Amino acid sequence: MPLPIGHALAGIAFFKARPGMFFASRWHEALFLIFLANLPDADFLPGMVLGHPNLYHHGIFHSLGAALAIGAAGGWFFYRKKKRFWEPAAAVFLVFYAHLLLDFFTQDFVAPYGLPLFWPFSRQYFIAARPFFINITRSGESSDFFISLFNQHNLAAAGREILILGGLLAAVMMVRRLLKKKVR
Ligand SMILES: [Zn+2]
Repeated sequence: MPLPIGHALAGIAFFKARPGMFFASRWHEALFLIFLANLPDADFLPGMVLGHPNLYHHGIFHSLGAALAIGAAGGWFFYRKKKRFWEPAAAVFLVFYAHLLLDFFTQDFVAPYGLPLFWPFSRQYFIAARPFFINITRSGESSDFFISLFNQHNLAAAGREILILGGLLAAVMMVRRLLKKKVR
């Protein structure tokens, strides 16, 4: 798993690519996309309540089935608000599934390795042969889970995420600027 900062940068890249997709307010839009880009990692929460945060992490909430369900829920929510279903549903699906792809490209030294990318169609766990994000070391106990995240190894991981996903964000902003210039 990349850190929340990496997923947030991916969410902001989407926000810059398609501003005004969900909300009229830029702040609402950015916060919603940052939330959505991090949403799959909410699967830490039930384990955290039980004392073992990793218990349900990289389970079925990190899967195609979950992305489809969240996409449909997003479509339904925005249909009620804006009478549009497919476009917001597809965008919610994409941002959620992009989180899973970032996790796919992250080192994982805790079994089960990778994530069930295509569940319920396949129960198999997938991980990239050459992941380019560094794994995040963390405690398996709720009591010191947050404090265990602050270490030099994770700092290096955060640095790489900022470099790669910050680069993606910069590229998106540059393309948007170029396209705007062309339209004028
Ligand atoms: Zn994740």
